[in-house]
Amino acid sequence: MWSCTRKNFSGIKNVPEEHKKTFAGALDNWNKEFTKIIGRDLLTYEFVDATDPRSAELVPGDIRYNIIEWDLENIAGYGGLGPSIANQYSGETISANVLIQEPTIISLYTKWFKVSKDAQALEKQGKAKEANELIAQFTKETQKTINSRKGQFKIKLGKNLEMNVHSQRAELEDPMIKTDFEKVPEGVSYEAYMAGYFTEMLEHELGHNLGLRHNFKGNLGANESQTKGSVSRSIMEYLGRPYRHLNAIGLYDKMAISYGYKGKAPAHLNWFCTDEDQGSGATLATKSPECTKADATSDPFSFWEARLARNIELLVDTHSSSAPVWKASEIASQITDTVTGLAAYAASAEKTADSWTNFFGKADRPENKSDVKAYVLESFKKQICSPELTAILASKESAEARDLAAENLLQLMVAFAQQTMPLGLYSVDQIICQ
Ligand SMILES: [Zn+2]
Repeated sequence: MWSCTRKNFSGIKNVPEEHKKTFAGALDNWNKEFTKIIGRDLLTYEFVDATDPRSAELVPGDIRYNIIEWDLENIAGYGGLGPSIANQYSGETISANVLIQEPTIISLYTKWFKVSKDAQALEKQGKAKEANELIAQFTKETQKTINSRKGQFKIKLGKNLEMNVHSQRAELEDPMIKTDFEKVPEGVSYEAYMAGYFTEMLEHELGHNLGLRHNFKGNLGANESQTKGSVSRSIMEYLGRPYRHLNAIGLYDKMAISYGYKGKAPAHLNWFCTDEDQGSGATLATKSPECTKADATSDPFSFWEARLARNIELLVDTHSSSAPVWKASEIASQITDTVTGLAAYAASAEKTADSWTNFFGKADRPENKSDVKAYVLESFKKQICSPELTAILASKESAEARDLAAENLLQLMVAFAQQTMPLGLYSVDQIICQ
């Protein structure tokens, strides 16, 4: 007879029939690795539907159980959350939970695929402006929904002590959306994408449950094959929407688990960095630019150059003579990511370049760390001050359209200046186009 007091029962609650295979697959994938590392499975589980009499008793946070919950009750701002409770002396995990905001995720991604398809159809008819407007409208609505959920609870004791609720620690949380919605990856169906995405999310949250932290150097081990496992060497990486469905338990994760569960010394000590290792503001001068949750691909600097090109595309609407659909303020967080990603290289080259693994030795890159600062400025200006961009502005259908695009570009330049000038990297005269 099943009993709720059975120790270490792991229940998977509320997962609809069509997604059960994917959820089981994520657990089985971890078990396969554990079989190789410790010689046996580690995770046992059972699906518990809402109609099951045990369902009401299985509550995440009850340390008698491990629960994965397709969360129908709590409407939260995160995509997934993987908190756990450990023995404070031995570090052994006693109980762990995974909460996933699946109903919201399914609704968002269904809309994303539909909007993307409609936008592609419009583009084929030569209606680039209408396509942009459609995506912009969807993104704005989505941002509104997510922002309305960003509340956090805090426990206050007296005037000074303010504690975040443990399960809301940012490092346990995974964003519902990261960067704005772009076009759907080419040739990938909704079903294939979601299966990859759910597998990735659950493997990531289970990684937290098993004791792993975020690893923002995972993408440095990416390759361009576009196959499962090609986008990062760690499932604990944060990747943008075009990459997530391809992520898998990677070489770093297996190495870390072998170390933690078997005591096998890791072969690569420079494959890992986590939340507090990222730079921002003044600390950009001392932290590695290769450690950031915002990037992707094995060549982060090229990734930021590509993001800059995409920002300019949106801010100017480079493929039509119409006024841009976006204002710089509406994609401010994307712009901040881009200029921070670029500035981080210039800011910390002197101090951290010796530890970089994926910057030097590529086409037209400088050979010495002392040349990185000038190279970053040149790279930024090559795009924003290009004659092609000047020609596109000149060909806008009205003075109003031209002014809006020019104002957006100015804001992009201001964002770059605000990121680099306090660090003493460049002067205004160096930044502006001649
Ligand atoms: Zn996480």
